[in-house]
Amino acid sequence: MDVRIMTRAELALRGVALDAPVRRPDGAGPSDDGHVLVDGANAALPTNPDSPYRVRDSRVWLGDEDTGLTLTAVRRPRFYDLSTADGVPYEHIARLHGADVLATTVVQTCVRYAEADRCRFCTIEESLRSGATVAAKTPAQLAEVAEAAVRLDGIRQMVMTTGTTTGQDRGARTLVRSVRAVLDTVPGLPVQVQCEPPGDLVWIRALRDAGATAIGIHIESLDDEVRRRWMPGKSTVPTADYERAWDEAVRVFGPNRVSTYLLVGLGEDPDELIEGAGRLIERGVYPFVVPFRPMRGTLAARDGVPAPSAEQLAYVTEGVAAKLRAAGMKGADQRAGCAACGACGVLESAGG
Ligand code: SF4
Repeated sequence: MDVRIMTRAELALRGVALDAPVRRPDGAGPSDDGHVLVDGANAALPTNPDSPYRVRDSRVWLGDEDTGLTLTAVRRPRFYDLSTADGVPYEHIARLHGADVLATTVVQTCVRYAEADRCRFCTIEESLRSGATVAAKTPAQLAEVAEAAVRLDGIRQMVMTTGTTTGQDRGARTLVRSVRAVLDTVPGLPVQVQCEPPGDLVWIRALRDAGATAIGIHIESLDDEVRRRWMPGKSTVPTADYERAWDEAVRVFGPNRVSTYLLVGLGEDPDELIEGAGRLIERGVYPFVVPFRPMRGTLAARDGVPAPSAEQLAYVTEGVAAKLRAAGMKGADQRAGCAACGACGVLESAGG
């Protein structure tokens, strides 16, 4: 096993003792992280005073041993100091992820958030409760913040996710309006949208026509038993619906513009996970492999579910990265989205 990938996996799970100026306390997906650059690549690492990894002279040390990795904190962006005319801080509308990604949750509520249905790794409504964000961002607000973030902080891409809504579109309708508004103001900015498979696949074409560069349709696990256990609400959408949505998205957006998350540590067999990722790659879908981490505010953390081992994360990452390389598929080529950012996984350091 490659030592650097193993160290990078350890960092993703155990974090680093560091006060990163850019943090994302809660939200959809992985959170409670400090945003840093490891060897120049985006990395979202838990900030953990008890981590054995420390930073000295911009290098990562394990005790007295220099790991050979460099680490620099992402500086607080200037757009965080601004507010809209009606007094909403820009930081509550969209946030900096990594060094150059603007990320927003357009609708911060989810139809599946009742405890019986909620994905056990998700905290989408927690940042709402803590007052760190607003429930629904208007297209005009998103456009205003995107313009400032590009101008003041050199943002290079934008990620728009959404909680699932009750309609057939599952949130895509709001994403369409938001993408249009942002691109009217910042033409050419690569934007990735993320939603569940829409009940009517015409929404995928509508998202592309609005100008989105890439799309994430996130299944998190390909194992039906794991899906039912971890995502009681979301698993009512059959895997076959995801497959249809991915295929339509690849047709409309093109190959390597479509991605999905696969979480390591939900109990899926690692070799089956790697094989499943291989099938996604054959479909033209980028499998963005990330570790499950028991974030504060999740049901899994409440129940004491541990993160996977660094060995398991490194093993799956290396297996999937080898398949990505063989297919000539790189996260960076998605141009926008989590796969292009890479911070929440370790694939990029493994050449994926
Ligand atoms: S990988 Fe996605 S969720 Fe993670 S920091 Fe990058 S844009 Fe944000």
